[in-house]
Amino acid sequence: MSDINTYGIQGSIVTPTSADYEKAIARNSATSVLRAGYIVYPTSTNDISLAVKFALAQTPRLEIAIKGGGCHSSTNSSTEGGLVIDLSHYKAVKVSDDKATVAIQGGAIWGDVYTEVEKYNLVVVGGNVWFVGVGGFITGGGHSHLSGALGLAIDNLVSATVVLADGRVVKCDREVEPELFWAIRGGGSQFGVVAEFVVKAHPARGSALVGALAYPGTELPNVLKVLKEHLQAQPVGSKLTLGFARAPPHFYPGIMLLPYVEGSKEESEAAISGFRNEVKPVFEQIFHAPNFNIVSHGSDEFLSNSPPRSLIGGVGFKEMWEDVIGHVFGEWIAFTENEDRKGCFVLWEFGVRDKVASVPSTDAAFALREPHYYAVITGRHTQPESDQPTRDWITKIVSYVSEENKKRTGKLYQTPVNFALGPDYASVEDIFGDNVERLRKAKAKYDPTKVWSRGWVIEPASS
Ligand SMILES: Cc1cc2nc3c(=O)[nH]c(=O)nc-3n(C[C@H](O)[C@H](O)[C@H](O)COP(=O)(O)OP(=O)(O)OC[C@H]3O[C@@H](n4cnc5c(N)ncnc54)[C@H](O)[C@@H]3O)c2cc1C
Repeated sequence: MSDINTYGIQGSIVTPTSADYEKAIARNSATSVLRAGYIVYPTSTNDISLAVKFALAQTPRLEIAIKGGGCHSSTNSSTEGGLVIDLSHYKAVKVSDDKATVAIQGGAIWGDVYTEVEKYNLVVVGGNVWFVGVGGFITGGGHSHLSGALGLAIDNLVSATVVLADGRVVKCDREVEPELFWAIRGGGSQFGVVAEFVVKAHPARGSALVGALAYPGTELPNVLKVLKEHLQAQPVGSKLTLGFARAPPHFYPGIMLLPYVEGSKEESEAAISGFRNEVKPVFEQIFHAPNFNIVSHGSDEFLSNSPPRSLIGGVGFKEMWEDVIGHVFGEWIAFTENEDRKGCFVLWEFGVRDKVASVPSTDAAFALREPHYYAVITGRHTQPESDQPTRDWITKIVSYVSEENKKRTGKLYQTPVNFALGPDYASVEDIFGDNVERLRKAKAKYDPTKVWSRGWVIEPASS
């Protein structure tokens, strides 16, 4: 084993004997933690290359994991005994002089990005929560509140700088290294470390109505009736999230409506008036956020005070089927009657679908371009004993919605990497559908020996 300190890495290095080791291997969820042998915090692309070269030079070579914001539900950004390239010290954000693009280093979180672009009255298509990482979010596709108007995060990626499996640093876009550019847009961490993303900047979209309206569970049919009417003529700047959650102090099963509706106070309040007048919320906290930076920071406090263990699984579906939602409501109530699992929630995300669906499914590795809404099933608990029952419950709900969708549309929808529970619960085919073969060819070109072996590992095509 050679000494990592002789490789000239400028950023810091943590090992199991370091005082801050436990902090270095921590993730958003305790279920995503593995005990790495080395954690390298690069401060340049050269540091990333050197870390890769060190891992490859060991016998046997070290497994490498790439960590962005550390938010994925799986252990994909962690490694047992290997080397983590933790990008969290590599997170500068720079708006171009013409304000057309934003260069984001691979370890930034969305809060870093929104705080910077707000100064220029700009917005980019990114996560709806500050602490989610740009790296995983974009390489996984990236559904945003802004996707109805501006598409997915990958649809707004202009170019990227990638550190490849042999340590080389390359730039890619639609003309230069186009297959690499195609593969990283949805292909997760299977092709290298994205050291820099250059994304389109858009003029700020102004204020939006956000917050929460809460109803008792018995009101579900009435809330769905109003939601159905809203979806028939949904404005492009509207995304409504229907949530199943148990709120303190009684933790009775409840329904939440979490709106994101762009426009003036009058316009946005008019758009959700049915949810106030045709059904009566028992609680409401609505406000007009002046910009996306504030919108995206809104739920951080709630989410960062979560129980330590959280697991996420998601599924796309075509229409708002009341019977499917009603069935899942029953399953959720039954599962969350257990004291340790009462914090689990289900979110049904209803945004405008046409912009995302207007891009062919072959445009990028990300495959789900059928017009879709999606549900996110979130397990949150404290006890390790709840991990497996929660994974099983999430898998059951995801399978149920996916099968009902298939019965009703005749199509099997792919699962975006960002919403997949982990490689043990969704196959490469489930994620990439018909794009698998092309990904295999790209893998053979850019990573023939599978240096990138965490996550949904693509088998290189044999020549
Ligand atoms: C509270 C919360 C809200 C969310 N909301 C949304 C949402 O609205 N829309 C949505 O699409 N997703 C959403 N997600 C899912 C989220 O996008 C994924 O979990 C994503 O993987 C997080 O990225 P990360 O960098 O924080 O994660 P990490 O766990 O650090 O990384 C995830 C994967 O990406 C790889 N990776 C990270 N950075 C890089 C890089 N620079 N280069 C190459 N590979 C990299 C890692 O190796 C790993 O395989 C949400 C997740 C949470 C926890």
